[in-house]
Amino acid sequence: MDLDRLITGIRDGDRRALARAITLVESGRADHRAQATRLLDAVTDPERQAIRIGLSGTPGVGKSTFTEAFGLMLTGQGLRVAVLAVDPSSARSGGSILGDKTRMEQLSRDPNAFIRPSPSQTELGGVARRTREVIALAEAAGFDVVIVETVGVGQSETLVAQMTDIFTLLLAPGGGDELQGVKRGIMEIADLILVNKADGEMKAQAGRTCADYAGALRLFRKRPGDPEDFPKALTVSAVTGDGIATAWDEMRALVAHRRASGQFDQTRARQNRHWFDDAVRHGILRHLGSDPETRARMEKLGAAVAAGDAAPSAAADRMLALLFGGDRPD
Ligand code: GDP
Repeated sequence: MDLDRLITGIRDGDRRALARAITLVESGRADHRAQATRLLDAVTDPERQAIRIGLSGTPGVGKSTFTEAFGLMLTGQGLRVAVLAVDPSSARSGGSILGDKTRMEQLSRDPNAFIRPSPSQTELGGVARRTREVIALAEAAGFDVVIVETVGVGQSETLVAQMTDIFTLLLAPGGGDELQGVKRGIMEIADLILVNKADGEMKAQAGRTCADYAGALRLFRKRPGDPEDFPKALTVSAVTGDGIATAWDEMRALVAHRRASGQFDQTRARQNRHWFDDAVRHGILRHLGSDPETRARMEKLGAAVAAGDAAPSAAADRMLALLFGGDRPD
């Protein structure tokens, strides 16, 4: 792999170079990992900053339809849009949220859009790393908006919220007990709730659902520094396009507000810090799993614990001392 050409390609915003770079960061090979790290280091440019939008919702709520309509609106304004998928379940099922169907057909043909499905084979711990790196690459390639789409499986929302600037939850119009269906944790991290399918027969119902959520959101503590009226609930229709421009206006207003207050940069700094912590933690775990000597020692100590010959905490201390030096309690 010609790394220099890849670096130039990314800087030039070349979509094929971006696709190749993503394949590189997704690779499990040690030599690829080293190249990926060099690549990320070389292309990272603080001057290039996308708006990173997390988008979550259960299957069927209209994520793809919304993303296509929203994405086309943005490219229509001359913006470049990258759509990435995070699907932790794909590690088990082998499926992927964007890859299995032909979705976002129009957007995928748009020269100002880049769509990348979730890889079908990713170790669970690798999902976060891969996604952060892909976001960084898309940003370095000059994309103005990066949409990170995820299915609603609890854990993945938190993950996506930790690497985006704005977290959006897409919901469908529903009956009165809908509210209980949405986990409190997700309501707490959402900046914007969009009740989709506000069209035709469902329009009135969508309005009522939206009012219910708006009411529920008022019960949550505001994020310090955010405008009084956030988090917000709005109705949209991915099919007619109603409300989509308003949703974008609200997102931009929130970003502008957070930029002005310094909160935007603080959040990114915290996210980078978290990324670093995570990378170190995973590196240690990888080492535990792959270094033969370390594994043998783990096995031996583990067997001693299981046999009742060593106390778990003492054995763990010995293992840690072996890895990092320091006092070895016997
Ligand atoms: P996803 O699984 O969340 O990505 O959902 P899809 O985008 O595949 O949409 C699921 C179904 O809902 C499809 O049949 C869409 O045509 C339909 N749908 C999506 N958005 C809307 C909308 O705004 N209004 C209506 N009436 N149907 C929609």
